[in-house]
Amino acid sequence: MFSELKQELSTYLPAEQIETIYAAYRTAKAAHKGQKRHSGDDYISHPVAVAHILAGMRLDATSIMAGLLHDVIEDTLLSKEEIAQQFGNAVAELVDGVSKLTQIQFESKAQAQAENFRKMVLAMANDMRVIIVKLSDRLHNMRTLDACPPEKRQRMAVETLDIYAPIANRLGMHSFRVEFEERGFAAIFPMRYRVLSSAMRKVKGNRREILIDIENTLKKSLIKHGLPSDSVWGREKNVYSIYKKMRNKKLSFSEVMDMYAFRIIVDSIDTCYRALGVVHNLFKPVPERFKDYIAIPKANGYQSLHTTLFGPYGVPIEIQIRDREMEDLANNGIAAHWLYKSKDKAASDTQIRARNWLQKILDIQKNTGSSLEFIEHVKFDLFPDEVYVFTPKGEIMELPHGATAVDFAYAIHSDIGNSCVAAKIDHRLAPLSTALVNGQRVEIITVAGARPNPVWLNFVVTGKARSNIRHFLKSQQQVEAIKFGKRLLNRALSALTSSWDKLPAEQVKKILDEHQYQQAEELFEAIGLGNAMAPVIAAQLIETEQVKRPEITPKSSKPLAIKGSEGMVVTFAECCRPIPGDPIIGIIQSGRGFTIHLDQCSKIGKLRNKPGKCVELQWSKHIEEDFRVNLYLLVVNRRGVLGKIANSIANVDADIDNINVDEHDGNYNIINVIISVRDRKHLANLIRRLRLNKEVLRVSRNKPTWDKD
Ligand code: MN
Repeated sequence: MFSELKQELSTYLPAEQIETIYAAYRTAKAAHKGQKRHSGDDYISHPVAVAHILAGMRLDATSIMAGLLHDVIEDTLLSKEEIAQQFGNAVAELVDGVSKLTQIQFESKAQAQAENFRKMVLAMANDMRVIIVKLSDRLHNMRTLDACPPEKRQRMAVETLDIYAPIANRLGMHSFRVEFEERGFAAIFPMRYRVLSSAMRKVKGNRREILIDIENTLKKSLIKHGLPSDSVWGREKNVYSIYKKMRNKKLSFSEVMDMYAFRIIVDSIDTCYRALGVVHNLFKPVPERFKDYIAIPKANGYQSLHTTLFGPYGVPIEIQIRDREMEDLANNGIAAHWLYKSKDKAASDTQIRARNWLQKILDIQKNTGSSLEFIEHVKFDLFPDEVYVFTPKGEIMELPHGATAVDFAYAIHSDIGNSCVAAKIDHRLAPLSTALVNGQRVEIITVAGARPNPVWLNFVVTGKARSNIRHFLKSQQQVEAIKFGKRLLNRALSALTSSWDKLPAEQVKKILDEHQYQQAEELFEAIGLGNAMAPVIAAQLIETEQVKRPEITPKSSKPLAIKGSEGMVVTFAECCRPIPGDPIIGIIQSGRGFTIHLDQCSKIGKLRNKPGKCVELQWSKHIEEDFRVNLYLLVVNRRGVLGKIANSIANVDADIDNINVDEHDGNYNIINVIISVRDRKHLANLIRRLRLNKEVLRVSRNKPTWDKD
């Protein structure tokens, strides 16, 4: 089976490379041993055929080996690592890339989905050889489609027409595109295909004489002008292109068929134009049918001269004129640029070649000023800035590079983003911060009432996610500030033996106007955020004609009760981490609400004496939150100490949030641990437990209280 391939390879590859390819063949054959195709053939016949297609395009040895091994990861026990070990990383990467493309399946029929799917296929293959191997694989599968069961045949044919034919076209691989279309069309519409092709056969018989006649006339004329004659031939139209023309241009079969097409291949660009002159001299050109795709190439790099002539007997003749290089490019497109050149060792880096190919087309288009659309597409396909992932329903979402599960959630809907709590990526639970990769299937788990986490702002990359999270947090802060501000104001009013509900409406309005607040909520919000001082406002509110504005006496007011669930307007200072039961004090931070410290915290300093800067606080009787506390332990440096400590903490039903071990000296360690507890009683219990371990010598809160010697 290998000998035919070997013969083809030996026309352009050195013997030692063919040896390595043979080794890949033997490995593939052994791996697929016992497997059969639908046709009943040994499985290995398929990869060999794929390698043959690749060899036909003169692809390098790496690609040929990848062609031989392209199904082993997917269908056999052989792993990527084993391939890498035997045949090197380059081959393994190619095989892996092809396997990934094989795993994704196109299901939706929507136009936009097809376009996205094509982009995804291109984006997933960062080495363009992956695409070329994949296209060759698909080509052979289409050639052997008849052996497949009907549903598979149908699915493959649709996918080929919707995805692979356009990709081949975009990459300028004309012969692939034509065969994809021809075979895809035949499989989807077997009747139409049969009727059309038998009609074409009939017409062809009648046309043969005319065809030969015109061909001879053209050849003679070219020779007369000193141009080579062996490169003129009558072009066969394919069934699918006839069908498309009939459908799109609403032409009858005879109208489409009543056309003779020839191609003339010459040796240089110069000769192309000379040959054009010759044929225009021979038959009269049809006005406005001449196209110069040499000066202005098509979007995929295609170059040629097209013209239509009034032929003998009044039949129109379509003529294409191009040189050898253009012909090769027209047939093989991007693959033509992998044409193996053994001397060209320096350019063996395939990515460089892909870039060169792009650069070449870019240059062509720059010089001619034609559409850059293709460049934008391919450039973006080769150097992807975007990732394409599936929703659980099989739709494809396009997201910027680095997008995370949270970005994905917001891209679907802001409600999904706002209430997401976890993600499943390819059916596995994953953190919301996970950056997504092409081709993954992403599912978002939401919980009613869940809220966006401010931490998300550190990793989201899309504007939509960012602005939605910010917006939510801001409105959330506003709600909390209003609630908290109203409580603060009421407390200040109660110190003056009044309350908000008892205030006369006109007095409230007067004060609101004075401060330019439209409504009471704005006043509450300002107080809650620390932008206005509750005692000052309270004093103003109860001032009347009779009662002079009273002195501000914060000491006399009842402390405000804190629950720990006040949200973003109340934060607990990390320097002292107060917990329920501790004496506390609130420090106003303009615009950001309040920070709660231990009453004795050294960080408060002079602020304590500034009226309006501190608020007296006490703990509410009903607290459901847990609070973080900061402990330092001096322990004997011994095996298993950490385990014992963790055990003690778990035994009193407290949670470790963070743990850090500092080597003190050889004999002792200092362990710093942040633990979630309910209150002082809970903490006291915990400390007692910790001290029961004989390795624990000291326990202290917030900072080590023993001498560091
Ligand atoms: Mn295959």
